[in-house]
Amino acid sequence: MFYRTTAEPLGDHALVIGAGMAGLLAARVLSGFFGRVTVVDRDRLPEGPEPRKGVPQGRHLHSLAVRGSELLEGFFPGLDRELAEAGCPAVDQAWDTITETPAGRLPRFRSGIVMRAVSRELLEWRVRRRLLGDPKVRFVSGHEATGFLYDKSTGQLTGMRTRVRGRPAPGEDQRRDFTADLVVDAGGQSSRTPRWLTELGLEAPRETVVDAGLGYATRWYRVPEGFAEDWKSLAVLPSWPEAPRGGSLRRVEGGLWTVVMIGIGEDDQPPNDAAAFPAFARSLPSPIIADAIEEAEPVSPAYGYRRTANRRRHYEKVTGLPNNLLVLGDAACVMNPSYGQGMTVAAVSASALDGCLRRQQRRRRGTAGLGRRFHRRQARAIAPSWTATVSSDAQWAAGSVEGLGLARRFLHRVSGEVMRLAAEDPEVARTLLEVKNLLEPPRALLRPRVLLPALRRTASRR
Ligand SMILES: Cc1cc2nc3c(=O)[nH]c(=O)nc-3n(C[C@H](O)[C@H](O)[C@H](O)COP(=O)(O)OP(=O)(O)OC[C@H]3O[C@@H](n4cnc5c(N)ncnc54)[C@H](O)[C@@H]3O)c2cc1C
Repeated sequence: MFYRTTAEPLGDHALVIGAGMAGLLAARVLSGFFGRVTVVDRDRLPEGPEPRKGVPQGRHLHSLAVRGSELLEGFFPGLDRELAEAGCPAVDQAWDTITETPAGRLPRFRSGIVMRAVSRELLEWRVRRRLLGDPKVRFVSGHEATGFLYDKSTGQLTGMRTRVRGRPAPGEDQRRDFTADLVVDAGGQSSRTPRWLTELGLEAPRETVVDAGLGYATRWYRVPEGFAEDWKSLAVLPSWPEAPRGGSLRRVEGGLWTVVMIGIGEDDQPPNDAAAFPAFARSLPSPIIADAIEEAEPVSPAYGYRRTANRRRHYEKVTGLPNNLLVLGDAACVMNPSYGQGMTVAAVSASALDGCLRRQQRRRRGTAGLGRRFHRRQARAIAPSWTATVSSDAQWAAGSVEGLGLARRFLHRVSGEVMRLAAEDPEVARTLLEVKNLLEPPRALLRPRVLLPALRRTASRR
């Protein structure tokens, strides 16, 4: 669907910074429109599904939302089957999952909303392996991008500067410049594009940051021998503000459970100390996860992570941005990971990129005007996820219900009622799961079937 060679490439060479999920998906799209694509990563990329320094989040539970799965399958046909063959279970979000919400357990029914449960490391490796087979794509690993090459007379980038991380290999220079017709920054949330733009005397993007103060801790367990329960996944949702702790457990490939604990606020941070992990699990509003791991053998330490603020860099609003510079993935918009949307949002951006490049090609524009068009299109495509995430986190960040304005306080009550309805009514639960999996926009929860009873209940409680 996305992959084709073209008689008229938009340029000879596209360069991508970062071989995370966003960089890989960008490379996939670009290979259909450019003569060749180079992906530069500061890590020495492993030849297999292994942890690496540049992606510390790889050790944490990664849910691939169903919309993300569908987009990935479009980019890499057969990927889902490949993951199934590698032992990644299919998890029906309502049938195979027990979800405890503050309002009670979600009903279990065959929803057909089926997630492929895969570790981040395996998913990234399988996608990278596909690209390694693409003759147009080349990986240059162990090279850190350090700044743009810029032609002031045209206002366009001409490439990137890089330096070798650590000791160069024999015959390798410490510094290396790459010329390119297009530069894509997919370097994750530590992206240095804002700084590099400022160094060139150009405008850096304005940032919006919303921080709920959420912390993460993940630990891996072996599924106990003879395990015979009828679920593959457990979730205990936190409830703001009275129950700021939650967690999830998911079966993934290799006969393992990946178990994550989350807590909002300084007093409720989950421990990155293995000995304290089970006690934290026991402190959640429901014992289901603590009970499950009680008899399971841990196979990893507890990994902590605290950099969970939502951060959006508004490239769509920057004037004078070189038109052959694109920024996507966490480098442009990072969201609180507990909503499990980052990889899917990266895929949505890659799809927006595909749409833009097709249009450039149809109109024979080369890369003229591309940056502006892409960043606007990307902003529209990710807006529903961003808005839903930050409005929920803005509540958590407020600290108390009294700290909310009137409108937000009302919204908080209504969403509590939506949750209660979901615990009673499979159709409302289905809508909730569709929104969570980015199959429907958050406004689906405003449909009369959901909103009217929620409003009636809110009014009667008052
Ligand atoms: C704890 C945690 C849990 C998460 N859980 C989920 C989840 O359940 N579901 C989900 O969809 N998403 C989740 N995410 C988000 C998800 O990991 C990312 O949103 C997604 O993978 C897109 O990331 P990226 O490719 O933009 O950046 P990254 O994955 O950060 O990759 C950036 C890459 O760029 C390289 N790089 C950086 N700087 C340079 C440079 N100067 N030169 C060369 N290379 C460079 C790095 O080495 C790295 O390979 C989670 C994130 C965290 C932190």
